[in-house]
Amino acid sequence: MIGVLGSAAARHPVGVQTTRVTTSPLAALRAAVSDALALVSPVDCAGCGVADRSMCGACRAALLAQPFEQRWGDELVVWSGLRYGGAVQAALNAFKDEGRTDAAAALARPLGVVLDHAAARLRGRPGAMRIDLVAVPSSRAATARRGYEPVRSLLAGAGRRSPRWLVQRLRTRDQAGLGRQERALNVAGSMVATRPLLGRHVVIVDDVVTTGSTLLEAARALAAAGAVVRGAVTLAATPRLHPAKTVHIRGIVE
Ligand SMILES: [Zn+2]
Repeated sequence: MIGVLGSAAARHPVGVQTTRVTTSPLAALRAAVSDALALVSPVDCAGCGVADRSMCGACRAALLAQPFEQRWGDELVVWSGLRYGGAVQAALNAFKDEGRTDAAAALARPLGVVLDHAAARLRGRPGAMRIDLVAVPSSRAATARRGYEPVRSLLAGAGRRSPRWLVQRLRTRDQAGLGRQERALNVAGSMVATRPLLGRHVVIVDDVVTTGSTLLEAARALAAAGAVVRGAVTLAATPRLHPAKTVHIRGIVE
């Protein structure tokens, strides 16, 4: 096992933070009523909307991780577990933006598989044995809106701790709907390490990699603080959309 990256605790997921932020007594009442109804009403699948199940069998199958490796910017190796789209995308969106924290366990499981996979790959490479996981930070506005930080919640669900070594220092636009260059410009210089990290070996963790610009910005900020960035892990990755010179699929493993 490599440090916290390959934690055995991943096989025994712990609870995921489900704190709900309410802004008014009315909102609190509405949330309480919604919780009460959920106890007696069927729940729709977070992946496909079918009634009765929080996550149906077909969507659980779609969330089985098949770790694969890509390289971004010719320097950052990224391990991902799922192809972004379909039930994976729907379940992740439901978890992040529709308050479906009941989907956390089903999403944390494949993340744990990719983290184990990354630990196994790094074990065969030169470098420090102790590797810390650093989650890509959510913006303060997004955290306030959701009441939780999705990536940190998924890491907790996968039995991993991640020190808060990275924060956003600039307000950025939502990356959704932006092109590759716009995304890179949007996040450039947006993150900063919270402490000196000289000699620390780290793996960056995010939910989805699309163009790589967010992960590359996180890598830049961590390296600027002295960290050695050994790679990144994401739950899901979009199918290759960009020229081969910037993305090299290194083959599906397992
Ligand atoms: Zn489903």
